[in-house]
Amino acid sequence: MKAAVFHGPFNITADNVDDPKIKAPHEVIVKVLAGAVCGSDLWTYRGESAAALESRIGHEFVGEIVEIGNEVENLSVGDWVITPFRYSDGECAACKAGWQSSCAHGGFWGWDSDGGQGEYVRVPYAQATLVKLDEPPAAAAVPDLLTLTDVMSTGMHAASSAKIVPGDTVVVVGDGAVGQCAVIGAKLLGAGRIIVFGGKHPDRQALAKQFGADEVYSARGEEATATVQELTGGFGADVVLECVGSATSFATALTLAHPGGRLAYVGLPHGVSVDIAKLFRTNVTVAGGLCPARRYIEPLLPKVLAGDIHPGEVFTTRLPLADISEAYRQMDKRETIKVLVTP
Ligand SMILES: [Zn+2]
Repeated sequence: MKAAVFHGPFNITADNVDDPKIKAPHEVIVKVLAGAVCGSDLWTYRGESAAALESRIGHEFVGEIVEIGNEVENLSVGDWVITPFRYSDGECAACKAGWQSSCAHGGFWGWDSDGGQGEYVRVPYAQATLVKLDEPPAAAAVPDLLTLTDVMSTGMHAASSAKIVPGDTVVVVGDGAVGQCAVIGAKLLGAGRIIVFGGKHPDRQALAKQFGADEVYSARGEEATATVQELTGGFGADVVLECVGSATSFATALTLAHPGGRLAYVGLPHGVSVDIAKLFRTNVTVAGGLCPARRYIEPLLPKVLAGDIHPGEVFTTRLPLADISEAYRQMDKRETIKVLVTP
């Protein structure tokens, strides 16, 4: 079978790899029907993560079960399934409390099990990890469903962690796929006003508005701080959703909430440090972290199947797995918001 393999910085290609085999009775093999490249994959692509050379990559995929371990009870060959970006056993204290991303026996695709950018994936703890659909979805719904594996769940996690209440003024920092989905999440929780700070790409600005943003700005740093001050009568925003994870983005985000406000962060942090003394003076709550995507898939699923939300619009490019190096190139150059990878 073919799968994406990381050979070194800026060198990810679709190569022949061994077919996956069930190694434990709690596992299944999923045939990938659609996968994606994530902004967080770019840390590996650029050589800024600890990924081993020749390792598999990709953690967003949906597909069909083609083989099943003999301890797996509530799934069958032929089931159409959504996979959270981390597998989890569903039995440990963290899982039972809804923090599946901290599962004692969990792991990441590409690091602890097969990468998701490939034709087939071995899924550990399948019964707890996978969410199956009652029937195969319409082709048009697949991009929306694919976002539940990560970016839509993560955007929702940002909004939920910030405890958005109806009427809140919410600033979203970042116009990538997670920032876009955070706009949807904020809207679902009843935000009164949504202000997005991102880049200058007109397609990203238009999408944020389509998802429910009231205003979109390309300002950064002090200019962003001044803009939010101006827009909020010199007070600041009720809620800030940090959806980038860089040190500069986080530093800016911390200046945008008003005293007593809430900041949630869901972008994979790189080089971020927080000055607790500053938070002390402002009483700003900082929440968020690695999204327990498994917790969000089931509540978001009916909204996607009913067409109430269309997070799949973040996929502005579709490429076959054979062109995975081009998919990474386009993501890295910000020529596209997000790439959907077909087998
Ligand atoms: Zn667990």
